[in-house]
Amino acid sequence: MKEQLLQSPVFQMAATQFDRVADYLELGEDIRERCKWPKRLITVTMPVRMDDGRTEVFFGHRVQHHLSRGPVKGGLRYHPSVDLGEVAALAMWMNWKCALMRLPYGGAKGGIACDPRGMSTREKEKLTRRFTMEMLPFIGQEVDVMAPDMGTDEQTMAWMVDVYSTYAGHLVPGIVTGKPLELQGSAGRKQATGHGVAFLASRALNKLGITVTGATAVIQGFGNVGHYTAETMSGFGMHVCGISDITGAIWNGKGLDVSALHKHVVANGGVAGFPEAEAIDPEALLLQECDVLVPAAVERVITKANAAQLRCKVLAEAANGPTTPEADTIIEERGDIFVIPDVLCNAGGVTVSYFEWVQNLQRFHWGEREVLTKLETHMEGAFERFLTFVRSKKVSHRMAALCLGICEVVKVKQVRGLFP
Ligand code: NAD
Repeated sequence: MKEQLLQSPVFQMAATQFDRVADYLELGEDIRERCKWPKRLITVTMPVRMDDGRTEVFFGHRVQHHLSRGPVKGGLRYHPSVDLGEVAALAMWMNWKCALMRLPYGGAKGGIACDPRGMSTREKEKLTRRFTMEMLPFIGQEVDVMAPDMGTDEQTMAWMVDVYSTYAGHLVPGIVTGKPLELQGSAGRKQATGHGVAFLASRALNKLGITVTGATAVIQGFGNVGHYTAETMSGFGMHVCGISDITGAIWNGKGLDVSALHKHVVANGGVAGFPEAEAIDPEALLLQECDVLVPAAVERVITKANAAQLRCKVLAEAANGPTTPEADTIIEERGDIFVIPDVLCNAGGVTVSYFEWVQNLQRFHWGEREVLTKLETHMEGAFERFLTFVRSKKVSHRMAALCLGICEVVKVKQVRGLFP
């Protein structure tokens, strides 16, 4: 199984990052192995009757990295490229992220290899319900709590609540987070990840002495994370000049009208063709001069092929795993880019998921301002711990963020000891 996981380029990347940190921390072989490998890897097949009468069999995965620090937490992704290695890598990153943010969770991730863009709502509903049913023995509000990720949304979570609650015989809202408000979702959850990204980007600009109002940004991806990052940045007075998605990339040097763009995307399915901007090559978009570059789509887009040509001052990693270890080395040698590593940068989502779960367990409700204020306080605390580590240990930003998360997990493993 170890070899199988290591064949996945995304898992290789997560494992390389972990090995670098473990070497730095001088972790012994026993604790290193315990921390690196996932606790549970679950793969299921799901036959679904499609609208045209065919039965299609989908593969789905759930990887629970560690359960030592609490229930596991992590998104569910629908994307054609999903495989076990990718899901295991994302689960490992979630583990370090929850620990870095001092949330009482282990990390997990789920994914189904499918193309949600080519499926009807009915087909997606059947697939989601079947997956939830297959997962029943492995999930629970004290065991494993899922949330939306690429290709899934609050409707997906609502179907999951319905299946789980039907089997339980009563409503169990805490089984997932990122669900609709009507089902006891949390105010502020939808925009949480993007809000956190924009907030930390503004804090990084402050540290560099760059005025936030009027600063420029480029964003790859205009889904949940990219859209709310853009919206929050615009609210801060920043100019979001370039945005791309699966349909293409657009540019307006004076700043895009984010609300108008969102309406265009809802009506047309993507950013391409937005009238108040010019089309630009999606690869070239990443290399445009800007204050903040935000990859908010898929993994491994900042690579050794483009890292030397980046022209941003802050790299705010909203996506999980957007920068390869080779690119990390190049960026570190350049020394002129303030990297906000993914495990910190996009942690707003899991932080407000935690708030949602707490509200569900307590049957309590907080308002949006309260949630977003708590989020900013939580992220500010993590950002300051991270900067203190960078300064005191003189290590790269990636090393600092991962060290903070991994050290928490190591401490818990050591204090709990080994069973039996
Ligand atoms: P989403 O499905 O809502 O949106 C994904 C966006 O990326 C879409 O606009 C899509 O068109 C675009 N995209 C896909 N491939 C692309 C490519 N090759 N080039 C440019 N654009 C491309 O997904 P999301 O929830 O916004 O998640 C985006 C990233 O953020 C993922 O890496 C995810 O793991 C991470 N993330 C999401 C959350 C969350 O709360 N949703 C939390 C933490 C991290």
